Amino acid sequence: MTEHLLKILIVGDGNVGKSSFVHRYVSGQFNKTYKMTVGVDFSVKLLHWSDKEKVRLQLWDIAGQERFISMTRIYYKGALGCVVMFDVTSSSSFSSCRHWKQDLDNKAMLPNGDSIPCILVANKCDLAHRAVSADTIDKFSKAHGFITWMETSVKDNKNPLDILKVRNVSDPPT
Ligand code: GDP
Repeated sequence: MTEHLLKILIVGDGNVGKSSFVHRYVSGQFNKTYKMTVGVDFSVKLLHWSDKEKVRLQLWDIAGQERFISMTRIYYKGALGCVVMFDVTSSSSFSSCRHWKQDLDNKAMLPNGDSIPCILVANKCDLAHRAVSADTIDKFSKAHGFITWMETSVKDNKNPLDILKVRNVSDPPT
């Protein structure tokens, strides 16, 4: 069995749902208590990729607070993909995605020198008072080179990494 390491970054402003997302994905729970991320959290999930390959998925949750931004170059190192997350009810968290994407394009490189693929994720779509329309997100995503974008609700368990369509190592074989 071959094991691959896949480091994925989760970036975005504070309070958009990054920690909840990682926690939900790794443990299957939604925790309502707000906890400010200090520096970086990183969680691991082991996945079946195929009969012969396992993936050790490392999710790096980078704090969105300004004071941590100078640390991010170290955290970007070795990442193969990124989720840029905002809160669909917060236009300022949406505006910040432009800066996050620029920062990633400048600092987060694949071994071949290309910038890493990024997915734009609009979280909290369960809330009625949205501040950013789907049309605006779509135009922004295309203009700034995201590979795709999607709406999610970590609260309602609509999870962006479900697109990976892989089984947990602990799941029974299908
Ligand atoms: P982070 O600072 O980006 O890591 O954000 P957190 O994961 O700490 O979440 C901030 C707050 O938003 C918490 O109170 C979460 O319970 C809440 N939250 C996260 N995801 C959702 C969601 O999809 N819908 C709603 N309504 N609240 C959410």
